[in-house]
Amino acid sequence: MALEYTEVITSSNKKKRKPNVKEDELSEQQQPSTYHFFHDPSEISLFRTQLLHWYDQNKRELPWRTVAMTEPDVNIRTYAVWVSEIMLQQTQVATVIDYYKKWMKRWPTVEKLAAGTLEEVNQMWAGLGYYSRGRRLHEGAKKVVSDLDGQMPRTTEGLLKQLPGVGRYTAGAIGSIALGQVTGAVDGNVIRVLCRVRAIGADSTSPTVTDALWKIADRIVEPERPGDFNQSMMELGARVCTPKSPLCSQCPIQTHCHAFRKVSIKHEKDSKTLLSKLTAANLNTSVPDIENCSAAGSCNFCLSEDWDPQLGVQNYPRKPVKKAPRVEKTLTCIVEWQRAGEEMVYLLTQRPSKGKTKPGLLAGMWELPSMLLEAGVSENKHKSLLCSMMQKLLGTSLDTDSLQFVGEVVHIFSHIHQTYIVFSVCVSDCSEAEQEQNISWLTKSAVQGAAVSTGVKKIMKLYESSNNVGSKDKKRKLSPQAGKEKRANKTKKLKDVATNGGPKQLCLSKFFSTSKPAVKAKSKNS
Ligand code: SF4
Ligand code: ZN
Repeated sequence: MALEYTEVITSSNKKKRKPNVKEDELSEQQQPSTYHFFHDPSEISLFRTQLLHWYDQNKRELPWRTVAMTEPDVNIRTYAVWVSEIMLQQTQVATVIDYYKKWMKRWPTVEKLAAGTLEEVNQMWAGLGYYSRGRRLHEGAKKVVSDLDGQMPRTTEGLLKQLPGVGRYTAGAIGSIALGQVTGAVDGNVIRVLCRVRAIGADSTSPTVTDALWKIADRIVEPERPGDFNQSMMELGARVCTPKSPLCSQCPIQTHCHAFRKVSIKHEKDSKTLLSKLTAANLNTSVPDIENCSAAGSCNFCLSEDWDPQLGVQNYPRKPVKKAPRVEKTLTCIVEWQRAGEEMVYLLTQRPSKGKTKPGLLAGMWELPSMLLEAGVSENKHKSLLCSMMQKLLGTSLDTDSLQFVGEVVHIFSHIHQTYIVFSVCVSDCSEAEQEQNISWLTKSAVQGAAVSTGVKKIMKLYESSNNVGSKDKKRKLSPQAGKEKRANKTKKLKDVATNGGPKQLCLSKFFSTSKPAVKAKSKNS
């Protein structure tokens, strides 16, 4: 059921919204059992009090919480919470803190962020992962400045509709924390807490359960302190009601928790000596009898599979089996250029900022020249395609024998298991290539500080360590025939170099020389 809201002004001068619909009308419709919902107003009230009391005593001081509490300018407050919520999506609090501080120092307002470039944003985001988040923040800031006169949306609905990358959870979190809107915010932590508290064991990602969890969250949120309430739910999930080994004995809402009650009762039942004493009088009378769902057997929210006694409260929540990540292999090449008297530089190319229909993975980021391996196409064919691609970038010809195998790097994205098969090549003169718009030559330290993915950093680390290993052990093992051909090619190349002379000449044989050999004698099939 959608809620209608009325805006009110509170003593803290933050806009708050109160539901026009009576709380008791919520969640009671179309439900097979009240067991999985909060239906007793006195229980809701006690739940809020206990949870907020615990939060007030135990909350972590975090920079975005301080801004939300102390920043009087609603526009800055909303922007600051927006930044924190986007950074916190899929990234741990401890990692986010430093990034957040640096970000807010550089772009303290939405206008300042809008005036920055995507390049700067990517650079600032480097290492946080899921780079599209930074890009969307930047897009959103530009939209706020150009379409909304620099004013962040002032309602949860406005945040949801007008900001790219802001979904239902993020809108609820920003709306409640920065704007005092009375709305729930259901993230992974809250899903876990609610599924345990209300013993919801059906697939927690299904639309039915998702809808139910939002209804519960909207219902139990504390109208006077919605932001704190939502944060207390998340904090409880992060620190007490954890995925593994939850600290039930320290939980402030233990008496409301169906999962805890189930486990306790099962323990008691298992203990024969206590079986006869197990009566209603032994149960905590401050909450209704919640031992079982009255619709069990035909209920959409009860456990879809049998209770596992080993798991205890961790029987909740239940998720469908995770899809295996897509397996990909990518050929990549480190092109190094040693300019006379200067530090070695490395070639980077920029990924397009837009895909054909939507922004692609790592859009706008810098990477080493790379090529995704396609099924059914040999590695040699790909090497030759990679050479062609680099030829275009460098404005000269390049043969596959110039590439030296370095090793393999595995990098796991959220949904992709990526293996980079790394080669290297040294060039001795690349003055023409500097004209290219989407390439850049950077020193090793500049690569680490640039807007590059963690995958690129891992590749550079491998290359560095390969250069530190004795060359005897580094060559990739070759078949006798391949070795013969390689030696012949090398001899030919040496002859060419000898014939064509110094580094200023630009045909390939004068242009490229092989880099140091590989660290591991790894075959391409290993
Ligand atoms: Fe989570 Fe245990 Fe608290 Fe229940 S009692 S909410 S399972 S920590
Ligand atoms: Zn049920």
